[in-house]
Amino acid sequence: MDTSYIQVTPIKQSKINTVDFNNLAFGTVFSDYMFECDFKNGEWQNPVIKPYGPISLEPSARVFHYGQAVFEGMKAYKDENEDIFLFRPDQNFKRINQSAERLAMPAFPEKFFFDGLKKLLHLEKDWIKKGVGNSLYIRPFVIATQPAISASPANEYKFMIILSPAQSYYAGEVQVIFAEKYSRSANGGVGFAKAAGNYAAQFYPTKLANEKGYQQIIWTDANTHEYLEEAGTMNIFFRIGDKLITAPNNDRILDGVTRKSIIHLAEDNNIDVEVRRVSVAEIKEAARNGELKEIFGSGTAAVINPIVGFGHGGEDFKLPKIEQSYASFFKEKLLNIQYNISEDPYHWRVKI
Ligand SMILES: *Cc1c(COP(=O)(O)O)cnc(C)c1O
Repeated sequence: MDTSYIQVTPIKQSKINTVDFNNLAFGTVFSDYMFECDFKNGEWQNPVIKPYGPISLEPSARVFHYGQAVFEGMKAYKDENEDIFLFRPDQNFKRINQSAERLAMPAFPEKFFFDGLKKLLHLEKDWIKKGVGNSLYIRPFVIATQPAISASPANEYKFMIILSPAQSYYAGEVQVIFAEKYSRSANGGVGFAKAAGNYAAQFYPTKLANEKGYQQIIWTDANTHEYLEEAGTMNIFFRIGDKLITAPNNDRILDGVTRKSIIHLAEDNNIDVEVRRVSVAEIKEAARNGELKEIFGSGTAAVINPIVGFGHGGEDFKLPKIEQSYASFFKEKLLNIQYNISEDPYHWRVKI
């Protein structure tokens, strides 16, 4: 792999010694370098690595006015031998371009994506700490930079990758509310894309939910609010008896890498998994008769996030505490693959 064509502007001094790696608030500390590449005159050009820092954009840059922006979320992991791994990075590459296409943005070239990412991670390898739970969160994103405020797609863009060291993520006891009024996404919309605006649109309803004592919202279908779809940054699984259930992908739901990996692991471990619509009524009924054993979210940041209870229609339901949860089973399986502790028959782990 020859990445010498990617010019590196060196930093004067690393800030790594100023960082307390045992006390990281997720997504608030950034590494020394960032990757940048511009789209101009119809092509992606000038991929460079430079010191992490402010970028200069005109106030008329379209991203500020129309939210033409997409992103990804990945992680780099280190094993005991200091080797560095990614988890299914081909999926993130594919998905950022699916998101970009939906927002009328140009596809980013595979070579630049992986060369830039690998070169950046090798430069920043000291920011990836050993130990299960420690990782370097990777945030690739694309923004419309063309200075023009007519409401149409831009002809200039910037692709960047920034890195943020992360510890294992514990969200505390998560109590959720099933959405009855607001929606995250609609048929024919952009819910399946990691489009920046999807997240801004959730902040207000989530704030209202927080005020009522719920940490997150489980979004329901926008038409009827009868079917459970996903959380704001996580896909969602339900366990009724010993059966695992998750909603099928559609244009309202993000096709999570963690979700599809869990479905695969379930099938390979003789866990009965159903990918089908899940109704609010079914889950409330299962909670009432004691059949509802678990609800958990899945996503790159938290891996698996167990949920302790939910609210709907003015009623609150508590989930039982169980000994052998699916949540901890899948979390361990995934972490063992990600940190090169176990075999990886699926070739999900990619050494870089
Ligand atoms: C990123 C994201 C997920 C999780 O996807 P992973 O690929 O597993 O990280 C789920 N839902 C939404 C809305 C997301 O943005």
